[in-house]
Amino acid sequence: MSAADGAILICTDLDRTLLPNGSQPESASARPRFRALAAHPDVRIAYVTGRHHALVDEAIAEFNIPVPDYLIGDVGTSIYRVEDDTWLPEHDWQQQIAASWGGRDGPALHALIADMAGLLLQEPSKQGPYKLSYYTPEDWDRPTRLAEIESRFEREGVAANLVWSLDEHAGTGLLDVLPAAASKLSAVQWLIHHQGLDDERTVCAGDSGNDLAMLTGPINAVLVANAAADVRADAAGLAEAAGYTDRLYQATGDFHGMNGCYAAGILEGVAHYLPESVALWAGVEP
Ligand SMILES: [Mg+2]
Repeated sequence: MSAADGAILICTDLDRTLLPNGSQPESASARPRFRALAAHPDVRIAYVTGRHHALVDEAIAEFNIPVPDYLIGDVGTSIYRVEDDTWLPEHDWQQQIAASWGGRDGPALHALIADMAGLLLQEPSKQGPYKLSYYTPEDWDRPTRLAEIESRFEREGVAANLVWSLDEHAGTGLLDVLPAAASKLSAVQWLIHHQGLDDERTVCAGDSGNDLAMLTGPINAVLVANAAADVRADAAGLAEAAGYTDRLYQATGDFHGMNGCYAAGILEGVAHYLPESVALWAGVEP
């Protein structure tokens, strides 16, 4: 029996999953109820996001969301434990994923693909030690371009995980080049293992392309109701192909007076797998 025995772990994306910064309205009771759930001593929270640590701090202040127990940042390429408001980086994780890039760093990888049409390097503040990030056009010819990037990397002995998602709000595509060993899912699995948590009492939540690995694997997952139609279809298809249909729940709303979007979708999904969680927030009104 570990100290974490019985704990619920909620691994949630931030933008347009816990943060209501999309085009759909948020139910007024959703975040207060999420805060109540997160405050329970048997509940651990991990934010799993493309943001780095400083941008997560900004979101916590701006949206009044809880300080998490863990942060999986930079699309799964950094992991922190949060203890007494101190963010402790898990260096073992970075060492483990670094090997995929064959000793190269982001700028060296960029040099291999910098001439490709449609790739615009994101701001320095959005790059990470093991995350090279670009903007692409919304209607980018993804299959062709991603195949070309992959073949250029392969020739140089670089094993990369290419993650594309659409920022609907900004009308732009986002491409993250990560080490092949790094994804939101592999980081969540590392965290569960290293913290002695229980994957049957873990629920992941997300809304978009860079959440798909985490939502369509062996861990219980929920897609919030504000997810775009193509993400819903992709998620359902990937989960089915992998044999994990029963591990993907799509929030529908009409749940305790909430609409299934953002935090409401997270609560609905956690309750789908762990019905006892409802008692931890049901009395909270906005
Ligand atoms: Mg998101």
